[in-house]
Amino acid sequence: MSVIPIVPGPVASNGRLATLGVVGGGQLGRMFVHAAQALGYQTAVLDPDINCPAGRVSDYHIAAGYDDEQGLAQLMQRCEAITTEFENVPAGALATLAAHRPVAPAPQAVAVAQDRIAEKAHLAACARDSSVGLAPYVPIESDADLVRVPDALLPGILKTARLGYDGRGQVRVADRAELAAAWARLGRVPCVLEQRLALRDELSVIVARGADGTMVHFPVQRNLHRDGILAVTEVYLGNVPTALAEQAIAATRTIAAQLHYVGVLCVEFFVVDDGRADGALVVNEMAPRPHNSGHYTIDACDVSQFELQVRAMTGLPLPAPRQHSAAVMLNLLGDLWVRDGRPVTPDWAGVLALPGTHLHLYGKLDARPGRKMGHLTVTAPTAAAAREMALAAAGRLGIAPWP
Ligand code: ATP
Ligand code: MG
Repeated sequence: MSVIPIVPGPVASNGRLATLGVVGGGQLGRMFVHAAQALGYQTAVLDPDINCPAGRVSDYHIAAGYDDEQGLAQLMQRCEAITTEFENVPAGALATLAAHRPVAPAPQAVAVAQDRIAEKAHLAACARDSSVGLAPYVPIESDADLVRVPDALLPGILKTARLGYDGRGQVRVADRAELAAAWARLGRVPCVLEQRLALRDELSVIVARGADGTMVHFPVQRNLHRDGILAVTEVYLGNVPTALAEQAIAATRTIAAQLHYVGVLCVEFFVVDDGRADGALVVNEMAPRPHNSGHYTIDACDVSQFELQVRAMTGLPLPAPRQHSAAVMLNLLGDLWVRDGRPVTPDWAGVLALPGTHLHLYGKLDARPGRKMGHLTVTAPTAAAAREMALAAAGRLGIAPWP
């Protein structure tokens, strides 16, 4: 498919600057806005929260709900092309936008990622082609489904089919009684029950794909989660055995290509023991947008995941990214603003005194436990140096060390 690029700068036909829209005003939207503006685009953010992180930095902020007709109309009037920064945007809203403006990723691709049942079906089909596994699972949509659950799926994790993130909408269940109680507590909404796997590692791969089918990828990220929330991402030579990394990249490319995906896509994987030295890959889920595990690309790569989102949605070239520094990224959660029950300001000066630290705070006013307030990327010439500085920074912030 040939694509006419939406180039940055003045648009001759309408006498204003080319403007890119983003549905959702969280930190991903904020970093997208930064990247779009650096290239010379104007931006418009649709988010009901007048204090949202992306609205604070965007040229335009339309403070309206995601299915507010007037808000959507304003976004279309302002923008040459539109993207989204979170997958829970109502599918109908994206479809309305896509009827009038280029929207990337397409509403159909977002719809698959929005629904764990549809997502698993897509991942299962692609996993067969890429010879990676999938955690054994069944959809739970009725009492009959509960009765039919095979014993092998317990202990398991019950996950709502829609609207889950950062481990929310998930319940660990040991047996059938807990499963039934958990499903009742979740309001009997459609869910999937997954077998709980013994995880050796968690990985993710981010690709960017253009409308012409060009696809590029970042190096494989190794991720540590705490309480279901990403805590640390490490990216450097040797973070993941080469054969596993190649397999994860190939699987991600298949998943994106089979969706005819346009934009930045992240796929999460588990590594589980299977008797082989490196273990085996299991695909977990996908995110139809830039991803928390890719924030290091801003400081450690010659093109960031956010710039690639801009390029993919506008039809600009997609060069293969090159990582120029070893990187460790620490998520900065709201918990850091409290010590021994008292409010504190994290020791930013202490952290910024360490070489290679890049602090990103998202402009959120309210530091609640578990809330992503910012991230810190530590870059260095070697993996050992990046890890050493990141552990030192973690120590100064009160983040527990990791192996
Ligand atoms: P995200 O913030 O990535 O959107 P999410 O709420 O959609 O998260 P998942 O990625 O499915 O949820 O799960 C969150 C974390 O819970 C995983 O990164 C992993 O640590 C753990 N987890 C999820 N599923 C399983 C499983 N089947 N077995 C063991 N651990 C799991
Ligand atoms: Mg996840």
